[in-house]
Amino acid sequence: MLDNILKEDCCGCSACAQACPNSCINMILDEEGFWYPKIDKKNCINCKKCENVCPTKKNSINNNERKGTVYISYALDDGIRLQSSSGGMFRLIAEEAINNSMIVYGAAFDSLFEVHHIAVDKIEDIRQLQGSKYIQSRIDDAYTDIKKKLKNGKKVLFAGTPCQVAGLKSFLQQDYEHLITIGILCHGVPSLKIWRKYIEEQKQNFKSEIQEISFRNKQNGWKSYSVYIKFCDGSVYNCFFADDLFMQLFLSNICLRPSCYNCHFKDVWNMADIVLGDCWGVENHSPEMDDNKGTSVVFVNSTKGETLWKPASSKMALKITNFNEVFSETSEVIKSAWRHPNRRRLFKLIENRDLKQLKLLITVSPIKRFLYKLIKIVFRDNNECGNDNI
Ligand SMILES: Cc1cc2nc3c(=O)[nH]c(=O)nc-3n(C[C@H](O)[C@H](O)[C@H](O)COP(=O)(O)OP(=O)(O)OC[C@H]3O[C@@H](n4cnc5c(N)ncnc54)[C@H](O)[C@@H]3O)c2cc1C
Repeated sequence: MLDNILKEDCCGCSACAQACPNSCINMILDEEGFWYPKIDKKNCINCKKCENVCPTKKNSINNNERKGTVYISYALDDGIRLQSSSGGMFRLIAEEAINNSMIVYGAAFDSLFEVHHIAVDKIEDIRQLQGSKYIQSRIDDAYTDIKKKLKNGKKVLFAGTPCQVAGLKSFLQQDYEHLITIGILCHGVPSLKIWRKYIEEQKQNFKSEIQEISFRNKQNGWKSYSVYIKFCDGSVYNCFFADDLFMQLFLSNICLRPSCYNCHFKDVWNMADIVLGDCWGVENHSPEMDDNKGTSVVFVNSTKGETLWKPASSKMALKITNFNEVFSETSEVIKSAWRHPNRRRLFKLIENRDLKQLKLLITVSPIKRFLYKLIKIVFRDNNECGNDNI
């Protein structure tokens, strides 16, 4: 049963918890700060529904058939681009969806600046879903809710990370004509424990509660984005992303979820009806699409995706491209993130060190890096993290 799943194989989508007819699976935070299903074995009736909806067990979407069309694009409205992480594509597609009476699901902050999937059906509420939040969003009971809505004939647009889209499809167990999915290109999600530590340190440093956070403030341009925090007393923290402690830990891959180093959902051509990402490097191949305000790369993979994309695209600048113009074949878009050699050490020390001290673990000497690679080859990557059961 689910007991035999390795942490490395559990993406935390919670499809199993929602499928359990006896409500005997709860999502529990582990010691590293990631959500995992915990089964109340006394009440388990061994129906195997949890196993049947697990997207990793199904491993359903890795045929890598290259279909659909790839675009480079951005919203013509600069205001929308400024509020968005990349080119503002999500906002335009979500507007189109709501104008077509669809309910839109996406990731929003709660009052503690943790992230949950919520539903919106008004244009003015899309704003809460805009912008990348670099912590795993909790699905809560969104899949169950979506199933009910689809069964009642409602139309739904769901946006999330590739594993969340796979979790939804696996939970539903059938195609629905009125469901359209958006997958967000994702190199991994960092530990909630690290995020909570960061928030606490920020509040202590500024001696104030937090009012607003943006991971991708574009005041100094899209390529030099900053982490922006507005505090309740009016003070502001605005730090170039590469100098921010949380972003340094996140982007070095030292604190990602174990399953992100072994991601089963990297098939950009099949993961969702539409796939959105940052078009990093646009200045090299399509300088005419680059003004440093944010440019997206978009995969429109299905006819359903086109029904929203076509009308939304009248509000965009866009160019048709192909995968190889934008990405290399070793890109983290199709390959899992590299596991940092000091990951295990970081989580051993996490309780007793502050983030500045933990950050020192990011730097690895060339000798250690070489030895780590050698061990990975000799032992076939069988070390470090994710070999524990959930
Ligand atoms: C954890 C994470 C890692 C990412 N890694 C990459 C990467 O390696 N390469 C790349 O090109 N792009 C990555 N992105 C995507 C990128 O940052 C933009 O979100 C994307 O290009 C869409 O931009 P936009 O301007 O169209 O819309 P935006 O308004 O910026 O994006 C909003 C959309 O993102 C979703 N979203 C935001 N936070 C989360 C979350 N925590 N979990 C699930 N969904 C979320 C919202 O539901 C909404 O659908 C990542 C995003 C996240 C959240």
